[in-house]
Order: sequence, then C-alpha cells, then structure tokens
Amino acid sequence: MGTSIVVHEIPRCDLSDEYGSVCSEAAYADAYSPKFGQWAYLCKYHFDDHGCRLGTGLGQQLLTEEAVGDPQFDPETEDLYQTWAAFMRDNGEEASREEFEAIAGGLL
Ligand SMILES: [Zn+2]
Repeated sequence: MGTSIVVHEIPRCDLSDEYGSVCSEAAYADAYSPKFGQWAYLCKYHFDDHGCRLGTGLGQQLLTEEAVGDPQFDPETEDLYQTWAAFMRDNGEEASREEFEAIAGGLL
C-alpha cells in the first residue's frame, strides 16, 4: 500500500462543519481521522484540520485515473495544487486548475 489510490471518481468530503452542513468539497484522501476516530473521505482542509496523515494504515490520497494517466501528472505538483486550492477557497477565491498551472509553470 502506498500513499495514494486511484479511483474512478473523486468522492465528496464526508464531514460537516460545526453547524452541521455537509462540507461537500472534493475529497483529498481516504484517511483515518484521529479527531473522528474513524476512516472518512476528507477534503484537504479537513484532512489538515483533523491532523490526518498519508501512509499505510493512516490514509491514502485519492487520485483519478484521468490525472494519473496524464503524462504531465506529478504527485508532488498535485499535492501543491490541492494545498493551494484549499488556501484560495479559504480566502473566498476561485481556484482553477488553469490558474494554478499558470502560476506553477513559472515556479516549477
Ligand atoms: Zn471537508
């Protein structure tokens, strides 16, 4: 078992916020949440918020067949993208893949 699994479709985050409304962000990983005491699909925000980790017996990052099949695909870049997108959303900004690639293209 590695730190990622390939799935046909990315599920939604299983969690709810403190007011009980469902998160519904795209899940970042299927991971064990120490805060929750069980496994769940978690978006990047909740993954970090719950102190989850990737690894055998801890959690696996969810990747789509599409992403993995892309010759440009790089798990590290994907991780960067997820972090960036979560940060942008936290600040109420749109986070598009195209925009990320435009920024990342100059950095990577
Ligand atoms: Zn979430």
